[in-house]
Amino acid sequence: MTQLTEEQILAALRTVLWDGGDVVTRGMVGGLSLAAEGSGTKATVILEIEPQKDANVEGLKTQAEKAVASVAGVSSVAVILTAHHAPQKKKAAVAQKIELPEVRFVVAVASGKGGVGKSTTAVNLAAALAQKGLKVGLLDADIYGPSIPRMMGLTGEPPVNADDKMIPHERFGMKVMSIGFLVAEDAPMIWRGPMVHSAITQLFRDVAWGALDVLVVDLPPGTGDAQLTLAQSCPLAGAVIVSTPQDIALLDARKGLAMFQKVGVPVLGIIENMSYFECPHCGGRSDIFSHGGAKDEAEKLGIPFLGEIPLDIAIRRKSDEGMPLTLSEPEGAIALRYREIADRLWDVLNA
Ligand code: ADP
Repeated sequence: MTQLTEEQILAALRTVLWDGGDVVTRGMVGGLSLAAEGSGTKATVILEIEPQKDANVEGLKTQAEKAVASVAGVSSVAVILTAHHAPQKKKAAVAQKIELPEVRFVVAVASGKGGVGKSTTAVNLAAALAQKGLKVGLLDADIYGPSIPRMMGLTGEPPVNADDKMIPHERFGMKVMSIGFLVAEDAPMIWRGPMVHSAITQLFRDVAWGALDVLVVDLPPGTGDAQLTLAQSCPLAGAVIVSTPQDIALLDARKGLAMFQKVGVPVLGIIENMSYFECPHCGGRSDIFSHGGAKDEAEKLGIPFLGEIPLDIAIRRKSDEGMPLTLSEPEGAIALRYREIADRLWDVLNA
């Protein structure tokens, strides 16, 4: 079987016309991914359109789907339309806050770099908040590497309600939404700058979240466009920073802190992940990464220290099985730690 290329898909999209030009030349292709699907390939295309009155956007979607489906080797197609605003309007859109009047607290979970356990912490923290009896939503805004679908054992495009809003999946009593439900798994999405903004805002605005006590948002790692978009246009109660002890030492987490402070988003606290290792065989404890760095740093900066989570293989195993450890072993020591963190966070939010 010959490998399909993005060029072949783009060539097909050049036959799709919109507003006096083809969609490729007009720069409307905001994202494109190809993923193996059985013996074929699933193509996902994101088209940015400028919202115009009376425009036949459904017709555009159908045309694009047909064109891509006609490429040999394509077994299925998903075309996602997103609204793109003209530059001067976009500025206003950035400044304009998304309103979620039914959500009491939107909490971003952030980290200075990838791989520190941010998503794992977001999932278990959301679960621990739900165990307190709170109404919890979990939004995976990690558009570059969505991992919440796997960690929560969820797949599939969410249905749409009569108001054209996506209905989030429900799992373990939580409402869950991820860009990973919309794009092909294992196919890294390439996002152009303006698309980051519209993808993230749509995950807030175009989803029927309903009434929630807390919406936990898993941010992409680092301090780029996505974090700034969120900080500027989403009604964040604040951010929680996840850090490993050595990450604090290497300044990455401090960069995250500085970014939120600069844009006026309160930092609600720091969680130290992979803090220490308890040997499952002998019960002995090793402070692999000089544990305690985050606590010291939090104290120095006057930011609440929310707690520490050890390096524990069960945390990773349960994530991979699609069931957060907090829920699968609710009476275990780790679940207790996540609940203590959830309690402290809830106190900080209500202070
Ligand atoms: P990030 O979102 O920061 O990129 P992830 O949450 O995806 O990080 O975690 C990276 C890897 O580390 C995953 O395989 C996850 O299961 C594992 N992991 C995270 N926290 C822990 C922990 N406390 N103990 C053991 N494994 C962990």
